[in-house]
Amino acid sequence: MHLFSVVLAVFFAVQPAQAAQAQSQTIENVDVRGNKIPTATIKNQLRTKRGDTFDQQTIERDVKALYAFQGGLFDDIAVLECLDTGQAHRFMAKAAIRAAENFRFFADKCAEARDGLNAPSEEHWNISTRVPIGPVGVITPWNTPFMLSTWKIAPALAAGCTVVHKPAEWSPVTADLLAKLAKQAGLPDGVLNTVHGMGEEAGKALTEHPAIKAIGFVGESSTGSAIMAQGAPTLKRVHFELGGKNPVIVFDDADLDRALDAVVFMIYSLNGERCTSSSRLLVQESIAGKFIERLTARVKALKVGHPLDPATEIGPLIHERHLAKVCSYFDVARKDGAIIAVGGKPHNGPGGGHYVQPTLVTSAHSKMRVAQEEVFGPFLTVIPFSDEMDAIEIANGVQYGLTGYVWTGDMGRALRVADALEAGMIWLNSENVRHLPTPFGGMKSSGIGRDGGDYSFDFYMETKHVSLARGTHKIQKLGI
Ligand code: NAD
Repeated sequence: MHLFSVVLAVFFAVQPAQAAQAQSQTIENVDVRGNKIPTATIKNQLRTKRGDTFDQQTIERDVKALYAFQGGLFDDIAVLECLDTGQAHRFMAKAAIRAAENFRFFADKCAEARDGLNAPSEEHWNISTRVPIGPVGVITPWNTPFMLSTWKIAPALAAGCTVVHKPAEWSPVTADLLAKLAKQAGLPDGVLNTVHGMGEEAGKALTEHPAIKAIGFVGESSTGSAIMAQGAPTLKRVHFELGGKNPVIVFDDADLDRALDAVVFMIYSLNGERCTSSSRLLVQESIAGKFIERLTARVKALKVGHPLDPATEIGPLIHERHLAKVCSYFDVARKDGAIIAVGGKPHNGPGGGHYVQPTLVTSAHSKMRVAQEEVFGPFLTVIPFSDEMDAIEIANGVQYGLTGYVWTGDMGRALRVADALEAGMIWLNSENVRHLPTPFGGMKSSGIGRDGGDYSFDFYMETKHVSLARGTHKIQKLGI
């Protein structure tokens, strides 16, 4: 009942007044072991019109009412996500709620999707409007799979596009659930399609497919480069949300208690497997000793355990290959001359999962690999700085530019530093708190384009200009 409601929300948001002729496209597919499976048939229902005959107000009212009834649903999804990814339940429970909020938000917003500009001139009415770009591919990673996929799929559907979703091969479960719910809820066949398979095969086929007009991708920066090359022959529009090595800068005049809470939360929540994690702590030298001492105590006290144990703060990593990657950075840190102040080993947790000790690396400097590369685990590198200029230089001295976090009591400095940081999203005296209308995305190797609010519609839609002559303006006569 509750699961049904979520998809119903999607359905109401996007139900087309008329679906244009369905056309079948095929994409070669492989299963998670790399074996060929029967070719998936994807019906791309290219809509020419949307929203003509349904009552927007009724839809919004129904969607909101359904959302209010979804208490039981969140836990079903959260538990599946925990089992599939190893993430702790306390975070997956919130992620499941956010997934529903994605649908609710874009359900409310779909009435604005076609909005444009009215720019009258002397001789013409000039109107711009937006139309769905067509079938889009959505390729997602494994760290918070359900929430991230809804973050892409909800606006694409609300824009009037059909979607082919390729979830990560390590986390297929909730993508399947979403597809089943869509079917149950009565989404027309071909509106939301799910294709499982390895990235290099199923994902590649999707990015190369001529019927797919745009790719919304979340994943590693190197995969983004590959997708750009794969999509070049068919001139794909791309939107990339990629990796990060985000700084949290703590000045000596900050509220240090709150800063400490945020520093711990932003790297050790979600197993440190979050693109926006503040994986580099830049702390002012004048307070570094005391702050690191308090931080060390907090990291030592983190609770590693079974993902479904409510007390667990850090669960097992998703895969043995990812565990090996995270653990490889212990040696990297030591070889570079940094100190592993806490952790630095795999952890023997319940059920034999891929547990790792939450790790704190100190005495690092900006050029070290542990200060430059995305570890994507519960692994924090601490780098001291002297003053504002030094902090900015260190913060910007990486290839990434997704987020930045600044803690200071000086609001002038907060805004100066925000201006100088090369990152798409900055939080001042705050951890990452997402507000759906605001732009989400990164600079440099962290991404191309922005999601959120109207930014999403700009990506999933084409802007069309229409000009109507007001009267009988003079037209040049040639060939007379
Ligand atoms: P990944 O790039 O390995 O895989 C992501 C998806 O791309 C998967 O579905 C995979 O199958 C697919 N893929 C792989 N190769 C492909 C190819 N050649 N063509 C098409 N598709 C292909 O990333 P991951 O390891 O699953 O996820 C972790 C990464 O995601 C981290 O770098 C993290 O920072 C990033 N991430 C970014 C954001 C953001 O919003 N910026 C959010 C979450 C995760």
